[in-house]
Amino acid sequence: MKQYRIAAIPGDGIGKEVIAAGIEVLDVLAEREGRFRFAFDRFDWGSDYYKKHGVMMPADGREKIKDHDAIFFGAVGAPDVPDHITLWGLRLAICQPFDQYANVRPTRILPGITSPLRHVSGPELDWVIVRENSEGEYAGVGGRVHQGHANEVATDVSMMTRSGVDRIIRYAFALARSRPRKLLTVVTKSNAQRHAMVMWDEIAAEVAQDFPDVTWDKMLVDAMTMRMVGKPETLDTIVATNLHADILSDLAAALAGSLGIAPTANINPERRFPSMFEPIHGSAFDITGKGIANPVGTFWTACQMLEHLGEKPAADRLMRAVERVTADPALHTPDLGGTATTRAVTDAVIAAIRGDN
Ligand code: ATP
Repeated sequence: MKQYRIAAIPGDGIGKEVIAAGIEVLDVLAEREGRFRFAFDRFDWGSDYYKKHGVMMPADGREKIKDHDAIFFGAVGAPDVPDHITLWGLRLAICQPFDQYANVRPTRILPGITSPLRHVSGPELDWVIVRENSEGEYAGVGGRVHQGHANEVATDVSMMTRSGVDRIIRYAFALARSRPRKLLTVVTKSNAQRHAMVMWDEIAAEVAQDFPDVTWDKMLVDAMTMRMVGKPETLDTIVATNLHADILSDLAAALAGSLGIAPTANINPERRFPSMFEPIHGSAFDITGKGIANPVGTFWTACQMLEHLGEKPAADRLMRAVERVTADPALHTPDLGGTATTRAVTDAVIAAIRGDN
């Protein structure tokens, strides 16, 4: 029987809770499918590890996971460890060297979930946001001089390369082509940022030549926020820079009902390295240990992982189970206005998988 080796990195806070739920559900799904199974290797990297060892992951950490079929990641961040250490020490320390340059964030209003956009029904909001995940505003280039003095100067250089922009825009066009509406919106801020953003626009126009069947348009990021709220039905696939897409996808998650249901995949499209699948949300220490973390974002990203592994029917079965559960308000966790626990939602998804024909 086919076996997928998955590196599970629960990380911090509710990351541990939702990844435990995700592993349980994936094992039941594999049993139900009967054609494959999972072998999970768990790595306890994160803030607790940092407090013991002074690093978020061991020096040979990447070596340990580079041959896995995928990485299943929870969240990082702790109140007593600076954010730049948790982020750069683990999540980005995997994303960047593994060249996971395409960050893919599907957004839909799932059955039973109410969007704050009360005029919008489910089918009118069905997007995939593609975030450039390797350079741009988060390239880490910059510095500070004269720190603490009146003449202090600090810079963060947004660094974009022709090859980096070309590959993400090409990925987005290909993804748009694979979806029924074949519609792509390229987001920039090329009226104010006169160099890299103008290059984005130029490259988008060039790449579009190779995708004549995809309808595409350009939007400035500020206008884009208004369009997402006012005319969500005019959007389908969206591509934007690291920073812009980071912000737009939080907006998208909120419009779809909760950060707790939003998934994301960090993809290395060439498959030279494993790709990494995680819920969008962070470690959420305010609810850690209470047993009320919404596991739906983790289940949804598990669907992304299954699709990436070539197990589309299993991904569809899991998504059907998730949607059956979200449709029932009695199974909504507090972030969705309900009182259900992580345990209750997980059990219900497991029951729906077992009962699915
Ligand atoms: P970050 O690690 O990005 O700094 P954070 O840990 O501060 O984030 P977020 O994940 O951004 O928190 O979430 C903000 C708030 O949304 C949380 O404090 C929590 O109350 C709620 N939230 C996030 N994810 C979930 C979830 N899966 N289930 C329930 N509530 C959630």
